[in-house]
Amino acid sequence: MTQHEGFALPVENLYCLSVIVPAYNEEEVLPELYRRLTAVLAEYCPDYEILFVNDGSRDSTLDIMRSLKASDPHVGYVNLSRNFGKEIAMTAGLDLARGDAVIVIDADLQDPPELIPDLIIGWREGFDVVYARRVSRAGESWLKKATARAFYRLIQRVGPVSIPEDVGDFRLLNRRAVDALKQVQERHRFMKGLFAWIGFSQKAIDYQRDARFAGVTKWNY
Ligand code: UDP
Ligand code: MG
Repeated sequence: MTQHEGFALPVENLYCLSVIVPAYNEEEVLPELYRRLTAVLAEYCPDYEILFVNDGSRDSTLDIMRSLKASDPHVGYVNLSRNFGKEIAMTAGLDLARGDAVIVIDADLQDPPELIPDLIIGWREGFDVVYARRVSRAGESWLKKATARAFYRLIQRVGPVSIPEDVGDFRLLNRRAVDALKQVQERHRFMKGLFAWIGFSQKAIDYQRDARFAGVTKWNY
């Protein structure tokens, strides 16, 4: 990366790490997510950014983002004009993130922030993408587990790119992986597919998936 070549940092890489949090009606979990995320990130580097994406929430999610930004210079937010769905919310975050590496994490603490150091270790080892793989799915209905399983079987059979099973969107991408994703002109985005499709060296980190910290799933069939 430019830094190691003795040039000035490009303007877009202002931070060592960007964390993108897509959020739709997450007022109940956002303060706790912010607390746990900050505790982890502060340990790791001084100039991280937390970039919230408000995906057309109808509760006080946006107000919480505003007040976090007002009290913490590490925080930024993007406010989408309506609810577009998580794929587009993530894309907006990836487009605006200015870190050397970017982490995508759910707001509801089902993706534990405490796993971030392991993602960073994988990055330091030289992997372009480090993704978290769930070894259990606490608090999810049998129907969701069954549909998820069937979905991955189907995808594996019809598509040329293999998408790892039991992997959500929780992952770290280094700058070149993010830049590759940004060049994909796909408007109907299925990010898990695109994350795999771009290639690069990828590493899995296993973890136990907790139930939602609060609130209900926004996932729809
Ligand atoms: N999300 C979003 N837009 C939506 C639906 C969900 O940004 O239209 C966010 C949500 O706030 C959360 C993440 O995507 O941060 C995952 O959503 P959820 O936890 O409801 O999905 P599940 O874990 O049940 O698959
Ligand atoms: Mg969830």
